[in-house]
Amino acid sequence: MKEILLCKYGELILKGLNKGYFEKLLRRELENRLKSAGNFKVSCAQGTIYVEPLDENADIDEALALARKVFGIVSVSRAAEVEKDLESILKSAKEYIPPFLSGYRTFKADARRSDKRFPMTSPQISGEVGAAVLEAVPKIKVDLYHPDVVVMTEIRENAAYIHAGAFKGAGGMPLGSNGKALLLLSGGIDSPVAGYMMAKRGVSVDALHFESYPYTSEQARDKVLELARLVSFYSGKMNVNVISLTHIQEALRDGCDEEYFTLLLRRSMMRLAERVCDRIGAQAIITGESLGQVASQTMAALNVTDAAANRPVFRPCIGMDKEEIISVAREIGTFETSILPYEDCCTVFTPRHPKTRPELEKVLLQEAKLDLAALEDEAFDSLNTFVSDAYAS
Ligand code: ATP
Ligand code: MG
Repeated sequence: MKEILLCKYGELILKGLNKGYFEKLLRRELENRLKSAGNFKVSCAQGTIYVEPLDENADIDEALALARKVFGIVSVSRAAEVEKDLESILKSAKEYIPPFLSGYRTFKADARRSDKRFPMTSPQISGEVGAAVLEAVPKIKVDLYHPDVVVMTEIRENAAYIHAGAFKGAGGMPLGSNGKALLLLSGGIDSPVAGYMMAKRGVSVDALHFESYPYTSEQARDKVLELARLVSFYSGKMNVNVISLTHIQEALRDGCDEEYFTLLLRRSMMRLAERVCDRIGAQAIITGESLGQVASQTMAALNVTDAAANRPVFRPCIGMDKEEIISVAREIGTFETSILPYEDCCTVFTPRHPKTRPELEKVLLQEAKLDLAALEDEAFDSLNTFVSDAYAS
């Protein structure tokens, strides 16, 4: 008996003409990621992606775990592939399915027949399979309305497939289907979550991290690279650009009114981010800001920050409470790293009383006191690029 994975994709089926393109992106992403699990063939038919092991060493458990992290896939079932005849189907209902039912009290058998040449209707197939399961697992009961688990038989073009339930996939849209954006990645909790959320919408994400050596340490940078690696379990390989803000921060500390320090710093970050976007071909900037969380995240402060940028700034955490952001961070595995206590460039020289209702004209007057253009040129020249890739062998 051959075991395979059936990966179902959700909202992109609706996309009509783009369907082929989305399938290609998904197939490519799966092929890349499954390499570490062994030899698999990935193919598409009838709204499903088939992942077939090609030899003994292909690790199907590992492949299942990997496939569940691919954006665009809503569910993954582990299924037996059998001949399209009732006898083979019932044999696997009795032999392959029972271990998957352990711990469940009730089940329902269901069937779908996309090959209409098969001589039985779906209700007939379900009836036969249900009876076979009951025979093999006498303790389980049938519940047609609220079953704990569904035993599904799918009669498809090339074969029949039988499985007991599906694992939830990562959802969202295939990576690369929605352009490319630059994530401002700090060592905090929010920005890795923001990067994950935009990658989930199919955006290819590269990162930009600002450091302020010697006020920030090498460990702080390593922590950010590790966060990028953890996000890359979902987003795929992430290039992490690192820029030094040391001289800009010193100039701001010495040359502007303290209450404007953070705002001016954030505006410099935006202008530098735009230059990085131009270099890498990114169309938008992503940040982890959440409305009202700190002084620089009031609506007035965000307006002043955005006025420095000429492209959309995506803030997927904007309407989330900290607790909600933390729960996503835990789910994607970044939380424990985010809370390691290394300083961020935003936490050095922080003003005692930051402006929460800044006015743009006053901010511009502050900026005019400094030669920020030259300092930003110098900062941009410090750009270094690292690669964080959870799938690199
Ligand atoms: P986070 O938890 O993501 O650090 P935060 O609540 O600490 O967010 P801030 O420090 O004000 O908020 O930063 C707001 C956003 O600005 C961050 O979410 C991130 O997108 C960006 N940012 C802050 N510091 C840096 C940095 N050192 N490098 C790159 N981006 C940064
Ligand atoms: Mg921060």
